[in-house]
Amino acid sequence: MGGFWQNLEMAGSGRCDCGGVRYRTEAELRPVLNCHCQRCRRITGHFMASSGCPMEALVLDAEETLRWYEPAPGVFYGFCGTCGSTLFWKADGVPDWISICAGSLDQPSGLTTVAAWWTAEAADYHRLDSSLTQHPYESGASGSDV
Ligand SMILES: [Zn+2]
Ligand SMILES: [Zn+2]
Repeated sequence: MGGFWQNLEMAGSGRCDCGGVRYRTEAELRPVLNCHCQRCRRITGHFMASSGCPMEALVLDAEETLRWYEPAPGVFYGFCGTCGSTLFWKADGVPDWISICAGSLDQPSGLTTVAAWWTAEAADYHRLDSSLTQHPYESGASGSDV
């Protein structure tokens, strides 16, 4: 792994809108990647802007309303069952990693958006940011989707 994967920034905390799920990280957060794949588009209502950290560094201070949706075997999106906030992404194929929806982070996050993935599937109404590194399909940097 190289490039922005090594450009770690700072730890953070966040929550869903209703507070049923609250979390913090004990490791630095990854810069933000935008995933425009069709699945992330539908699940988030636009695209998934995700940071993330090693799974072991995520601490859930509240998780009673956390639910997991498994749209494909071994791929999971975490959301709040009460308020519907999209919060996490994880996959059995990347067992040591959890992606965190950047919009759920407390501000200031100190993070920067660095790249857009699956831009070939971006919605037709969306204006892609030409300043971002764009990958029409999966980057393959992590072998994962987000
Ligand atoms: Zn909630
Ligand atoms: Zn995606």
